[in-house]
Amino acid sequence: MEPSLSTEQPTAPTHFIHKIIEEDLAAGKNDGRVHTRFPPEPNGYLHIGHAKSICLNFGLAQEFGGQCNLRFDDTNPVKEEEEFVDSIKEDVKWLGFDWADREFYASDYFGQLYEWAVQLIKAGKAYVEDLSADEIREYRGTLSEPGKNSPHRDRPIKENLNLFEDMKKGKFPDGAKVLRAKIDMASHNMNMRDPVLYRILHAEHHRTGSDWRIYPMYDWAHGQSDSIEGITHSICTLEFEDHRSLYDWCLDALGVYHPRQYEFARLNLTYTVLSKRKLIQLVTEKHVSGWDDPRMPTISGLRRRGFTAAAIRDFCERIGVAKANSTVDLSLLEFCLREELNKTARRVMAVLRPLKVVLTNYPEGQVEDLEAQNNPEDPDAGHRTIPFSRELYIEQEDFMEDPPKKFFRLAPGKEVRLKHAYIIQCQEVIKNNKGEVTELHCTYDPESKSGGPTAGRKVKGTLHWVSVLHAVTAEVRLYDHLFSEIEPDKIEIPESLNPNSLETITDCQLEPSLKDAKPGERFQFLRMGYFIADQKDSKSGAPIFNRTTPLRDTWAKIQKKG
Ligand code: ATP
Ligand code: MG
Repeated sequence: MEPSLSTEQPTAPTHFIHKIIEEDLAAGKNDGRVHTRFPPEPNGYLHIGHAKSICLNFGLAQEFGGQCNLRFDDTNPVKEEEEFVDSIKEDVKWLGFDWADREFYASDYFGQLYEWAVQLIKAGKAYVEDLSADEIREYRGTLSEPGKNSPHRDRPIKENLNLFEDMKKGKFPDGAKVLRAKIDMASHNMNMRDPVLYRILHAEHHRTGSDWRIYPMYDWAHGQSDSIEGITHSICTLEFEDHRSLYDWCLDALGVYHPRQYEFARLNLTYTVLSKRKLIQLVTEKHVSGWDDPRMPTISGLRRRGFTAAAIRDFCERIGVAKANSTVDLSLLEFCLREELNKTARRVMAVLRPLKVVLTNYPEGQVEDLEAQNNPEDPDAGHRTIPFSRELYIEQEDFMEDPPKKFFRLAPGKEVRLKHAYIIQCQEVIKNNKGEVTELHCTYDPESKSGGPTAGRKVKGTLHWVSVLHAVTAEVRLYDHLFSEIEPDKIEIPESLNPNSLETITDCQLEPSLKDAKPGERFQFLRMGYFIADQKDSKSGAPIFNRTTPLRDTWAKIQKKG
């Protein structure tokens, strides 16, 4: 059995956002409603960091009997695509969450957002700016110095209205003008120094086509979208803390329903990049086979690697929700998966790097069907039979000609048990003319089978094996960290990449029951780890397996040391 930490590792305590909602409900705020949203920008596939936000937003809504919207924050037509929208929907669903009919798009609100911008101009709270992006930056000042007012800041309202309308009509080229909020060029918060609300972009939008020649900035779109949807708790990551004053300012200036923004720490993982820019780079520069490459930290990559939605949700629960940034050990994610698969995955035998064994005292042509338990952790998983015969494969690494003292596997003269079968003893080592071991000649103890007179005889090691005659040859893909650095963000791609992150073995030998593994079916290959029949490349009858994770539990070790 695998070491289990479930009793030592309490699940995360209720976090600060949870407490805020409880207090709000107790105080009768929002008429007792809890309404959250998950607002991805459709400019890439979702990753494990997004899963944290999804579990938080959908989880809170579930817990408090509220609702969570799926809202695509699609305000940047240049980087957004329908493919990303589809993948995001698939991934949120797969994670086990449901937005019912509340699939929204910031682009659905472009008309309303424009009218609100006009309202702001009419109130003297926004103006059209002619300065270039560089000039705006110069005028903005620094953290230690206040900014300067733009020469266009006091443009008459009428002129602002006309210019903004002309911007909308496409009369100016990209970058010629922007609309800015008129707030305070001396504010200690840089976001309040007359932030840009609209920019000109002559680009096709994946939903609105060429209807719009101006597009709202995040700060103008986000809070107002929250307001339109009646969001009560708008939860985002810490880097938006400094945007909260602007979020509040916009809603107050318009005098519309005012949701509240709360910030939490984003997930960082060891050996992993979660920045979308870098994930896009991995895909476009073909360092991986695509967004769903099993080495990617994307939801689709993790799914293909063999992770389950339950394990990802469990992980998100355990890491908790805090106000301070930190980095989580990647092995915790693997730990959560092993906790589940240990109980659910059928245990089978597969030899990844075969070495042939001939049992010289086993009758030629004889085949025995041995009974094997599918999972000792799950009595309902039942039994299957495995054929045993005179010629077998064992794992190359389970034999050493000249072993060190504590090598409890096979060596000349040594005995081991074959799982579900007999005790064998190594009598002779056969080599080729290069001196490589090609075959072992062993004898078996016919009375050592389960139920036999010497079944209880103690030998130190137990090996997995498959019968040569019955084995299924298959491709198996072994994965290691995509990055060799624990903090890969500190180094550029490709220098940060692990050159050995994928090893493909084409002639693995599997027990016959694996021949018809269905794509997506998960197994424990005894002693070798958890594996999944690849959902893209594997076919029933011709399986291809991905190793999800080895059995070794580094998280358990870290816990013991700590
Ligand atoms: P990037 O900054 O890499 O482009 P993003 O945060 O802009 O990513 P979005 O699509 O805008 O990506 O994110 C949607 C939601 O997911 C946001 O509310 C964001 O705060 C949250 N999110 C993104 N990354 C993480 C993370 N690593 N941990 C927790 N939440 C995250
Ligand atoms: Mg974002």
